[in-house]
Amino acid sequence: MAIRAIRELGEECLRKKCKEVTFITPRTHLLVKDMFDTMYRANGVGLAAPQVGILKRIVVIDCGEEPYVLINPVILETSGEQTGFEGCLSVPGKSGVVTRPQYVKAKAMNLRGESYILEGEGLLARAICHECDHLEGKVYVDLVEGRLYDNEELEELEELEEES
Ligand code: ZN
Repeated sequence: MAIRAIRELGEECLRKKCKEVTFITPRTHLLVKDMFDTMYRANGVGLAAPQVGILKRIVVIDCGEEPYVLINPVILETSGEQTGFEGCLSVPGKSGVVTRPQYVKAKAMNLRGESYILEGEGLLARAICHECDHLEGKVYVDLVEGRLYDNEELEELEELEEES
């Protein structure tokens, strides 16, 4: 198990467009394994390769149902809308409101080099969009409606809401 350092907002690697993966090598397998280890350790539901400083089009996602590896992902179709809080392991301790599609259909390659279709709704749809944005050098803070909140501040606001 290897945990890689998660790069934080302000580092250049998070603002670069990532390169297509042309060959899946043992190094790709190792990177994906490390990305899962790193994501689970940080209690995240998704991680993109640039977040560990690798400018390749590789994403891992696990929203609690099944782990997904998306190599060279392309979003084919979206529908609906959801507005809710979103966070990012590269922006620790913060969240902000982002509107995303409710449903996403994407095409990607798995570690065996096979093309597959991934459909997601709700949190999975949000994660697919968020991680694919990373591959373009986009971070969710660019899309936030209003301002970024400290997670501690949000917890207090939620408590106030429950009391009233
Ligand atoms: Zn992120």
